[in-house]
Amino acid sequence: MSDKVLAALKVGPSTTELRELELPEIPPDAALMKVEVAGVCGTDVTQYRLPLRGSPLIMGHENLGYLARVGSTFAARKGVKEGDLMFLEHYLPCGNCEWDHMGEYRHCAATEWFYDPQAIRYGYTSLETAPGLWGGFSHYLYLPMNAVLHKVPGGLTPEEAGVATTMSNGIQWALIDGGIGYASTVLIQGPGQQGLCCLMASKQAGADLVIITGTSKDARRLEVAKAFGADAVIDIQKEDALARVLEITGGRGVDVVIDCTVGAGTAPVLLGIEATKRRGGTMVVQGEGNAEFPSFPIGRLTRKGMTLKSARGHSYRAVELALHNLASHRFPLDLMTTHTFGLAEVDYAIKSVGGEGAPGAIHVSVMPWK
Ligand SMILES: [Zn+2]
Ligand SMILES: [Zn+2]
Repeated sequence: MSDKVLAALKVGPSTTELRELELPEIPPDAALMKVEVAGVCGTDVTQYRLPLRGSPLIMGHENLGYLARVGSTFAARKGVKEGDLMFLEHYLPCGNCEWDHMGEYRHCAATEWFYDPQAIRYGYTSLETAPGLWGGFSHYLYLPMNAVLHKVPGGLTPEEAGVATTMSNGIQWALIDGGIGYASTVLIQGPGQQGLCCLMASKQAGADLVIITGTSKDARRLEVAKAFGADAVIDIQKEDALARVLEITGGRGVDVVIDCTVGAGTAPVLLGIEATKRRGGTMVVQGEGNAEFPSFPIGRLTRKGMTLKSARGHSYRAVELALHNLASHRFPLDLMTTHTFGLAEVDYAIKSVGGEGAPGAIHVSVMPWK
């Protein structure tokens, strides 16, 4: 192994440079991962455009790879060895709080980088925080003792397992937060990688009816949704989405709505409130991009006895179930994993997810050794 690490560094807004960094010493309570696949998601698109919060950083928070070096304490405590193929969560939790004991690392204060500049998360932590290898757009990643790892089941290639983060969110939002299961009726808004994973999770769980919406530019994605088992697809630019949902459900509305749109403002939430059944529906929203919601129909929400939940990240259990789902090979995942890029193409990879690079991108991965 060379004593250098090749990495793609974000050095400014929408700017990446390839650099060689020093390979750090691996103490007994740490390990080194050779990155095989680093997924790119919508969060990367938003983050990439923003100014740096400190020194340059290596992005890439959806990572898996082989353990290349494993310290003796790390090996003993984690039950892993060199050569193991592992999925790495992007949270680096404190390990002591109530959330961590429940496997809900996303809620741990130590991982809350939006508010705490000291918090470390893979893909968002600058080189200033030693040893700097905190992102997957790099040949190697550094794993301290509090890294959260999952063994990739046999029979899954790294490329297939590269969808694990998105599928974990799909399981979390659809099954655990949305409560979707046997005989559920579901409306998923947005047929991107996240919407498609919510769809697969719902079908695997036994949902009776899954409707998925998109716009006219999503025509291909809506075709993929059908191949994954969507019972109906709606192009909201050509059809009245609410009228169609009510028609498909015989006027009843759906049990659960999941908002997987990006940059669609408040419209998906308003549609969701009307499209849920008369009483007791659930809606799972991603509201981070909406600073305000003028005239939010809270009275309507209350009268329908609806439950509103927030989609943000996933639990330990959701990841385990996601790997199980992927290993089932039930869905033609290759329809979704449309593009892989090498380290030199990180900029293009992120732009492709944002719709400004390779046409037809759904799930995009960086494979640093490609
Ligand atoms: Zn992500
Ligand atoms: Zn904690």
